[in-house]
Order: sequence, then C-alpha cells, then structure tokens
Amino acid sequence: MTAPIGLVERLTREIVGTIRTQNLQPGQTLPSAKALAERFEVTVPTVREALRRLEATGSVELKHGSGTYVREAINRRILDNPHYVPVDLAAAIELLDARIAIEPGIAELAASVQGDSAVETMETAVDNALQLHTEVPAGHFHVELAKASGNRALHEMLVSLLAIHSRTQQAARFTYDRLRDHDEHADILDAIKRGDGLEASHRTRKHLESIKAAVLADWSEQSAADSSESTTTEGTEQ
Ligand SMILES: [Zn+2]
Repeated sequence: MTAPIGLVERLTREIVGTIRTQNLQPGQTLPSAKALAERFEVTVPTVREALRRLEATGSVELKHGSGTYVREAINRRILDNPHYVPVDLAAAIELLDARIAIEPGIAELAASVQGDSAVETMETAVDNALQLHTEVPAGHFHVELAKASGNRALHEMLVSLLAIHSRTQQAARFTYDRLRDHDEHADILDAIKRGDGLEASHRTRKHLESIKAAVLADWSEQSAADSSESTTTEGTEQ
C-alpha cells in the first residue's frame, strides 16, 4: 500500500534535514532504510518512497545492495523537471534564446573573476570537445563557463537549461560543427583570460546566435527531407 502523500512529503523533508544536521557530503551514505524507519517511526516502504523522491531530483542515489548515497544535487536550488516534458522546435528555440539572454553576461562575469583553477577547467573543457563526446553537464564548456562566473544560481540555471536541451529531439539529431564549436569556445576563453569582459560577452552571444541559426537551418532541411531521415547520434556539445 502506498503511504499518504503528506507523510511521504514530511518524511522527505526530515531525511533532507538529517543530511544537513549530520553534514553528510556528496558521496557519503545515509543511514539504512531500516534505521531511518525506526528513527522516524514509519515503515521501511515509506522510507523507500521518500528516498525515491529524493532520487528523482538527483539529491540521493539508491545503489542496490550498497546503500543510499548523497549526491551533488542535494545542494542545488534550481532544478530542471526530472519528469518527461516534450520539447518541440519552438520550445528548443526558447531554450536557446534564454541562453542568449544570460550567457553573454555569464562570460562577462567569468572574465572579471578569472580564477586560476576555473581557467584550467575551461581549457580542459575546450579540449574535451574535440575528444569523444562527454555527457552533459560534466566537462561541458558552457557549464564550466557558468561555474567560472562564481554565481551558483547562474551555474545551476545553465546546468538545468542544458539538461532540458539535451533531452530534446532537436538535440538528438542536430550537430553543430565540432571544430567550429571548439574554435569559438577557444576564442571566448581567450577573451576571458585577457580579462576582456565585453569581448567575451560579445563572442558568446555570436556563438549562441550561430548555433540558433544552425538549428533553424537544420530544422527546415530536415522538414524538407520529411520523416525518412536517419537520426544522427553524433555529439550534441554546443
Ligand atoms: Zn558552445
């Protein structure tokens, strides 16, 4: 039998409270479901339901036979919807427009901060794009750029926007030229390293606008070729 929603919600909060008060960090394990059930005087299935809720937002990870682990997202304030929401072309363009609205500002901030380790991480991300495709968001240039801005809200927004984008149909079949992507990232990073915020901002805007133009061109081409196209599985690094 499923526990009443109010109980699960309350228990979920209590488990998060436990993570906070015990100062459990990402990678550390939570007490067992049985121990949590005893502590909060609920049944083990109710604890599992609460843990699955937390897992849906990436706050914890349930590893069969090994326990429940705290994950990075426990500290995120901005999250994308973990449940499937269809994204059509218009919505994909809106996502890109949102990026065009915020990422030039992010680049400008990153240029003014310029932490050594952040620059190094961005350099790695630029190089990574030429290697085999890495999953969003790890090692993604735009995510690292947002991180380098030093503003966690902007970083979380970017991670969320890119996660939503990566799940769209457009992302699955659209490939921005990998070399061009690499070169444009390198140019943005170059301006950041010089501390030229305006130029970094300008280059970021231009980069995203050419991605948008490419998505639109790709879309009309694909539409013309009707539904018999083969889906490309090549990189979606943008
Ligand atoms: Zn890019």
